[in-house]
Parts: sequence; C-alpha cells; structure tokens
Amino acid sequence: MKIFCGRANPTTGSMEWLEEGEDYDYHQEIARSRYADMLHDKDRNVKYYQGIRAAVSRVKERGEKAIVLDIGTGTGLLSMMAASAGADFCYAIEVFKPMANAAVKIVEKNGFSDKIKVINKHSTEVTVGPDGDMQCRANILVTELFDTELIGEGALPTYEHAHKYLVQEGCEAVPHRATVYVQLVESRRMWSWKKLFPVHVEAEDGEKILVPPSEMENCPGVPSVCDIQLNQMPSSDFSTLSDVVTMFSVDFSKPVQSASTYYRVQLEPVKSGKAQIVLSWWDIDMDPSGMINCTMAPYWVKPTSALQWRDHWMQCVYFLPREEQVLQGEKLYLTACRDEYSVWYNLQKAREGENKAGEEEHKADVCVESPVCRCRAHLLWNRPRFGELNDQNRTRQYIESLRKVLKTDSVCLCISDGSLLPVLAHYLGAKQVQGMQPSRTDLYHPHELWQAFFKANHLEDKIKIIEARPELLKPSHLEDKKISVLVGEPFFTTSLLPWHNLYFWYARTAVSTHLASNVTVLPQSASLHMMIVEFQDLWRIRSPCGICEGFDVQTMDDMIKDSLNFRESKEAEPHPLWEYPCKSLSEPEEVLTFDFTKPVPQHCLSTEGSVKLLQKGKSHGAVLWMEYHLAADTSVSTGLMQLSNEKGNCEWNPHCKQAVYFFSSVIESEILSDPTAVTYAINFDTKTGEIAMDFKL
Ligand code: SAH
Repeated sequence: MKIFCGRANPTTGSMEWLEEGEDYDYHQEIARSRYADMLHDKDRNVKYYQGIRAAVSRVKERGEKAIVLDIGTGTGLLSMMAASAGADFCYAIEVFKPMANAAVKIVEKNGFSDKIKVINKHSTEVTVGPDGDMQCRANILVTELFDTELIGEGALPTYEHAHKYLVQEGCEAVPHRATVYVQLVESRRMWSWKKLFPVHVEAEDGEKILVPPSEMENCPGVPSVCDIQLNQMPSSDFSTLSDVVTMFSVDFSKPVQSASTYYRVQLEPVKSGKAQIVLSWWDIDMDPSGMINCTMAPYWVKPTSALQWRDHWMQCVYFLPREEQVLQGEKLYLTACRDEYSVWYNLQKAREGENKAGEEEHKADVCVESPVCRCRAHLLWNRPRFGELNDQNRTRQYIESLRKVLKTDSVCLCISDGSLLPVLAHYLGAKQVQGMQPSRTDLYHPHELWQAFFKANHLEDKIKIIEARPELLKPSHLEDKKISVLVGEPFFTTSLLPWHNLYFWYARTAVSTHLASNVTVLPQSASLHMMIVEFQDLWRIRSPCGICEGFDVQTMDDMIKDSLNFRESKEAEPHPLWEYPCKSLSEPEEVLTFDFTKPVPQHCLSTEGSVKLLQKGKSHGAVLWMEYHLAADTSVSTGLMQLSNEKGNCEWNPHCKQAVYFFSSVIESEILSDPTAVTYAINFDTKTGEIAMDFKL
C-alpha cells in the first residue's frame, strides 16, 4: 500500500504530498505515540491494577467466571493485569495493527497466551457467539479510551456499542465512572489566545489604535480542544471566580448514550470579575465505592497530594463565547454542551426573581451548536498565534525597529502569514505598503479577513494585499516601484520546526529583482541557538519503560526505538517548552546565522563544535530555537527568554514551539558516566530548507 503524506516545503512555503510506503505511517504513529508516556504513568497503572483486582474479586465472589473485555488493549497491559488478578479469560481488542501485533508478542512473552486473545479489530466490528471473536459476552469491561477532554477519542460511542452487544447487563466496569469538573476564571493570558486586543501605535501624527473587526468580538472560535499542562500556569496568571464544580459524570457500568446533550449547573461567583474561561479536568473512579481515584486536578485543587506528571492526559481550557462581568454571589448558569466527541461551554445570568418557568425558558435557549468561527480569524490564527500577536512587548520591538527604518517615501512589502506588520508600517508613515501571505491552504483564503480588518480601521485603500506568491510577483503588483523596505516577522502557518520560518529568506530571494539597491531587510538576519538540557519530565515520552507493574513491555520499547531510528534519521521534534520545565546544562550557544540581506546561498551551511556542560545533570537532549535580529540592538527570541537563576531554570517564549532533539541515551537508556561535553554537527541544507543534526556525548 502507498500512502501520501502532506508536508510543508520550507523552501516554497507550500504543502507537498509525498508518496510514502505503508511503514512510514506506522513509524510516525509509534514514534510520536503516547504509549511510552502511558507506561510511565505510575499513578494510572497502579490504580487500574487495583480497580481490576477489585472487579475480578467481586465477580468471583458472586461465583461467576470472570470474562474480561479490554477495548483498546495497546500493549496488552490491562488484560495482563486482569489475567494476573485471576480472570478466567480476556478478550483484548486493538484496532491499530502494529499495536495488536505488539500485544500478541508481549502477552506471549509474559506467559498469558492461554488466557488472553488479542483481536485486531475495532470494537464495533467484534462478533459474539460460538463462531464469533468472543465466545460469550463479558462481565468485566476494562478500557482506557480517554483523552484530555475525556470523550475526544470516541469513548462514548465505543461504550454505547459495547453495552449493547459485547458485555452482560450489570457488568463490572473499570473504570467505574468518570466525572468532569470545571472552574470559572478570569485570565488575560488565556483570553489572549482567543481574542485580538487593540494594538496601540505611537505615530508621528498621534496615537493610532488598531482594533479588531466587530465580528471578532463575539465570535465563538473553533471547536478543537485547547489542552495544556495547566500545572505550568502560575496562579498569578489567572483569578478563580468560582469554586470547583462537578459538571457531569458518566457511569461506565450502565448503558451509555453518546447522542448530543447538555448539562447545566448553577454557580455563584466567589469573586466579582470578568468570566472568560472555563478550566476543566476529569477524574476516574476505578471502583463503585470511589476509593480508587485517579485525578487530573491541577495543583491548586488538592495542594497536599503529590502530582503525577503525564502528557497523555492534561487539562482543558474552554473559551466562553464572550466575556461577561459577573458579581460575587450572583446566580449564574453554566452549560456544558457536548456531541459524541467534544464539549463546549456557555454562561448565562439568572434573571431577576427567576422561577421554575424561567429556568425552563433558559433551557430552551441553551446553546446546542458547536462553536464555529464566524470572523475567520480563528481559522487563520491558532491559539498560540493569537497569544503572540497580543504580546505587547514583542509588538513594541517591531514598532521601534520599523520606526527606525521607515521613511515617508518607503515602499514596503511585508511577507508573513496573518501579520499585523503591514498595518504597523502604514501607521508609522510608509508611503506604500503591500502585504503578502504566502502559505495559503485550500481551506482558507485570508483575503476576506483582511478586508474586514481594514474596514474596521478605515484602511481599505491604504494597504494592498498581493495575492501572488513571491516567485510570481510582478512590477505591476508594486505599482512599478522597487521595494525599499522588506519586512517579515517571520511567521508562516505551515512551519513545524523553528527554522521552517526561514522560508522568509527563500521568499526574499524570490523577490530579489524587485528590491531597491539600498533595500532594508527587517529582520536583517536570524540565528539558530542551541542549549543542552535536563528535562524535569518530558524525557519520559521517549524513554524506555522495561517493566511496567511487573509486566515485561520491552517489546514496546524496542518498537518505539525502531520507529525513531526509521531510515536512521532521528529528527528534532517541536514542543512548547513553557509547558515542559527543564534546566540548562550548558550555556546557550549561537550555532548558525542566516543573512537576510543576501539571497539564500547555493551551498549548505554547516557547523561543528562542542559545548561544555557546566551543570551536573542528565543530558536528555538539545533544545534549538531561532532568534530574529530586527536591528543592531533589537532581537526577538522564539526560544529562550531568560535563564532565571544559577540552578539553570529556563524561561521559554510562551507562544512558540521549540525544537527538541532527544539524545539516544534517553531512547536507549544506556548508562553514561557524566559527560563533560557534547560534540555536535549541524547542517542546514539550503536545497531542502531542513536542518540535520548529530550529537555525541
Ligand atoms: N490499554 C492500553 C492502551 C490504551 S491507549 C493501556 O492502558 O496502556 C488506547 C488504545 O485503544 C489505542 O491503542 C487505540 O488504537 C485503541 N482503540 C481506541 N478505540 C478503540 C476501539 N473502539 N476498538 C479497538 N481499539 C481501540
């Protein structure tokens, strides 16, 4: 089988479809999967084991045979727990073929082949009966089909089907129930991920304020979940307006309904403020008594209990359709609406002297439609990008740098996706301003959004958006003038890794013939920086597990290792490091520079060297990021913002993903004596726009 994989070409900024073998997809899935993280999640594993033991005992006490259905068995872990706990037989269902194969091997290696039957099917395809996949219905239902939003991986339809066709009435379920909790908060930081704040520009002729179009004010945004490591959000970045409230729960031992519905709770704010955000997380009770509880509650909810770090389950941030001033003690209704796979929220104020009839009326106008972006901005900008555009400090740096280079006769072209720079350049007095947004997807044309933007700010005839790609730029697009100032943030929506924004350099090269001889390019250059780090926790996602709760899962470790080494090309991967604390073991080092005043050279740019490790610690990997030099004394970093203390704690740009290259010592778990230096070889291939790297400890 051949499959096509979409990947943006960093030299052209456009999506390309590459033909790949069947293996490619498998390897990507496995290498980047969360299986390792789940196997390292001690709290989860211990509690599943306790819950499974308790369920098997209850069935045995009733004098019945314990027949287990494990939907989504993965490595086979939960079935092996059940078999060890005395289950008579387990049906282990796994839809993903490479995992089902791995489960067969792992089950065999651990000596459970006679007790566990691995079935490579989606659970809804499983048949029951003398000739079926299962001889009879099960009386114990074990699953782990949850994502951060609980239902996003299809747990509800899977349970609904299983109760109808695969398990007995009154079966034991592990987990027994899940409960979703919410807390209403005000947070300028998180609200800045949904909404564009007005931008203030000090211009020659007074202060200008760039405002978003009115459609943006009340736009519900997009339905995709915003899942983050809420434990990395300092309490100074939000203010809780309500207590933690139970929103809804699902009992997995009873028939489950997946059809769209809503849940409603009454709230009384504990503090007055702007209701903007609903923070949410869930817990699962492994047994009916609720004694075995596994919770995703963030640090401020149960400050005394130890937090289990995990990346496969985090917490959710939901954005209310609009912010609402609420008063301490007033009566509010919070509604959670859900379909089969996602949840969204709505807040309403109870009306004065409301009675039962009034409540009924409220129910009628509860939202049922999932949020759909009407203003188009949420299709162009993702949440971190909103945050970046709202970063006043960053905007000020661009304004100050632009102010230095723009003149009243400047002809300015801005090449960046969804950028406010053309408007800033106009406010700062450039005579002629054009914008170009090269990475266009088929789904979305940014033109209409810009028209709305310009209209809201009376700029319709002031700024021109050029729809041509850089290589097709014609003199007529520029009114037959040469470009005197070429600017970029640079930011492109198709970039995955930090250096993919070097597409700006390629675009700059493509428009070379249109540049005036004394053109100013801003940023004038970029540099790639690197630092060796020890992660507090992120290393777990790539680290072998070996033995998990007494079961040998090395087959899985080997599989992940093979996939990571597929084609012998280990790659850096993007991670938003503000969510993943690490400490620096070396000084940050500039490893490559890119001169935007000249075209992209034909030859590769490479460097070799060695970094001294100054701090004691485990060298988990290298972090790489880009810095853009706007002016001699002004640079913006998309990575390290500050090394905050002598312990090496790092502060990362909260709007960008950094590149992480995990050393093979993490992947192979080889024991190293403390290295004192790391040697590296880094190569930027100007033909492909990709960076290859190699490290030796
Ligand atoms: N049970 C394992 C793995 C959990 S990950 C553990 O706890 O460690 C969830 C797995 O379920 C994934 O491997 C996914 O491919 C599989 N899966 C999800 N829904 C499924 C379904 N309806 N039928 C079969 N497999 C499913």
